[in-house]
Amino acid sequence: MIIVLKPDASEEQIRHMVEKVKGLGLSVHLSKGAERSIIGAIGDEALLTSIPLETFPGVEKVMPILKPYKLVSREFQQENTVIDVKGVKIGGNEIQVIAGPCSIENAKNVLEVAMEVKKSGATILRGGAFKPRTSPYDFQGLGAEGLEYLKAAGKEAQLPVITEIMDPRDLELICENADIIQVGARNMQNFMLLKEIGKTDKPVLLKRGLCATIKEFLMSAEYIASQGNRKIILCERGIRTYDTETRNTLDLSAVPVIKSLSHLPVVVDPSHAVGKWSLVAAMSKAAIAAGADGLMIEVHANPEEALCDGAQSLKPRKFDLLMKELKRIANAVDRDI
Ligand code: PEP
Ligand code: MN
Repeated sequence: MIIVLKPDASEEQIRHMVEKVKGLGLSVHLSKGAERSIIGAIGDEALLTSIPLETFPGVEKVMPILKPYKLVSREFQQENTVIDVKGVKIGGNEIQVIAGPCSIENAKNVLEVAMEVKKSGATILRGGAFKPRTSPYDFQGLGAEGLEYLKAAGKEAQLPVITEIMDPRDLELICENADIIQVGARNMQNFMLLKEIGKTDKPVLLKRGLCATIKEFLMSAEYIASQGNRKIILCERGIRTYDTETRNTLDLSAVPVIKSLSHLPVVVDPSHAVGKWSLVAAMSKAAIAAGADGLMIEVHANPEEALCDGAQSLKPRKFDLLMKELKRIANAVDRDI
């Protein structure tokens, strides 16, 4: 429920309203604007409908939030959320490109790619230290050692870094070493993990689950927001369909759909969506045209020897060319990159 207060509502009237809502067992999110204040009452709305809230002094109107997700909905917040990661603003007019290897393999490789992608215009460095591999016999990532290499490469290249978390026990370590926490597609509905991340104030990039509907995706974001952390970036990375030509099917319509339903920034990962490097450029351009706030692209100096996802990784030179093409698309839709 959204309770819009009158411009001249007094502090006393606001406090009275807040206490009333809290007294019913709902949680309150008070947003004080220059013009007027808004109270977001989160919880069982049925409890509120029994009270004539409109008749309370200082109240202008009362609107139910019809969606099952509340804090992340456009109904709750009309303006876009912009997340500032060390000066890199995600969700604003500038499109941000996250680039780097699928996994951190050693200190040298990740630094080399970091310097290359920075030169080409990427603004955030990616690299997995804990890898969610389908086979337990495949490379699982370097763990804590990998995080050290990623942090050092980010520092050297002057890029904020993002890495995936799989286990809540690694949360502290990841918060110390990374600027953005990534929740992978396979953990989108790991609700315990989401709740723990929600208690931190680290920006988090939440990937859409392999078979998740947009509603389920937004409900997962709501799990994080409900614990207090509103710095959430949503990432469309393809969903599983019957087609086998591409690794997944990139659901590009999810971009405008989510932007209409939620105020959170939306990023597209074409690499994991298509699974083939030759298709990454086309889907990157399409994502920007569709209104994405950013891209996540895998880049490797020598994809044939990559320990993970070489087939979908761009060589630095190809990435550089792509960045130049993306500029033209971004400008065509009045965005900067
Ligand atoms: C990744 O970004 O390295 C990754 C594993 O992606 P996803 O969770 O989308 O499969
Ligand atoms: Mn990968």
